[in-house]
Amino acid sequence: MAIDSKLPGVGTTIFTVMSKLAADSGAINLSQGYPDFDGPARLLERVTHYLNGGFNQYAPMAGVLALREQIARKVARLYGCRADAETEVTVTAGATEAIFCAITALVRPGDEVIVFDPVYDSYEPAITLAGGVARHIPLRSPTYRPDWDRVAAAINNRTRLIVFNSPHNPTGSVWLAEDMSALAEVLGDRPIYLVADEVYEHIVFDDERHESVLRYPDLYRRALVVSSFGKTYHVTGWKIGYCVAPAALTTELRKVHQFVTFVANTPVQMGLADYMAACPEYVDGLPAFYQRKRDLFLNLLRGSRFVGTPSAGTYFQMLDYSELSNERDVDLTRRLTVEHGIAAIPVSVFYATPPELRVVRFCFAKDDDTLARAAEILCRL
Ligand code: PMP
Ligand code: GLN
Repeated sequence: MAIDSKLPGVGTTIFTVMSKLAADSGAINLSQGYPDFDGPARLLERVTHYLNGGFNQYAPMAGVLALREQIARKVARLYGCRADAETEVTVTAGATEAIFCAITALVRPGDEVIVFDPVYDSYEPAITLAGGVARHIPLRSPTYRPDWDRVAAAINNRTRLIVFNSPHNPTGSVWLAEDMSALAEVLGDRPIYLVADEVYEHIVFDDERHESVLRYPDLYRRALVVSSFGKTYHVTGWKIGYCVAPAALTTELRKVHQFVTFVANTPVQMGLADYMAACPEYVDGLPAFYQRKRDLFLNLLRGSRFVGTPSAGTYFQMLDYSELSNERDVDLTRRLTVEHGIAAIPVSVFYATPPELRVVRFCFAKDDDTLARAAEILCRL
């Protein structure tokens, strides 16, 4: 029977495509974003403790309360947001689940949702499945922050939601305080919600601060703010994240969450709760940890034909390759992987209408030795 697909234009995500090609080619994988080093030993020990200690049945639907309390404590300490652990914090199976549930809970058929290109690839399929329409607004090169006049012009009475991501994957840009004010201004008192994808909240460089929506009560009242323990604790394979949102929005989120996954897994939640309680300052060291890797990677590439402005945040670095080749980024990344043994992510795939860009994204969440071997290859090109 022919299938009338609900997602006819959607193929396999570029992260899976490139990681498979890298594995098949034996290439160094700087494509999909994940560290090639482990999470903190004490965290692994706590999770193992609970796994071996009989904590292997369902957690409460909204998440282990001790973990939700730690999340509330963290957002109070960092952003001055007094979120209630019981009614405003939900633990999910990764940020991906939180984003999917948030979009599904809010978007109705015919609603418009503003997204910014290059856009993380999980948003639009969720919008489409909910019957909504994504309105793509390109971020302004070279800063990759929004053009607020274009946002204001795109808003109409069908606009239901804005989904945005800062620090931004793939460009490494970071929204500034002036972007948050501009956002508040374009929203005014319109009935528009926000999904703030803040999975790289702890990876902001050069002494800038992360402008979390949780700092801005006027934005938070209409927002679902999403983060990922996978990014923060170098454990992307655990698929564990959370959403902080006002109680009424959290209620709607949980209506979907309880029927998508019901809960995230128990021993990881228990272990994270212990670790966050014991080492709340862990997150304060992440900017320096990743900034050193960013700088190392860029220094190693001096003299190569890849050029770029240092990322302001995330563990990604975009680099322009126009001195090297005139190929499309999709072709170049394939060739780099298969012929030269180094995998990266083409950026054009994150655009509804790709501009004439010659840039690719490298993940620098790697051991120094991996970065050195990667740079050696890139410098030879
Ligand atoms: N949003 C962005 C921008 C990301 O880069 C990622 C990580 N792949 C996610 C969401 C999903 O995070 P998680 O792995 O926790 O689902
Ligand atoms: N967010 C990760 C990246 O940007 C990948 C996550 C995934 O593979 N879905 O590379």
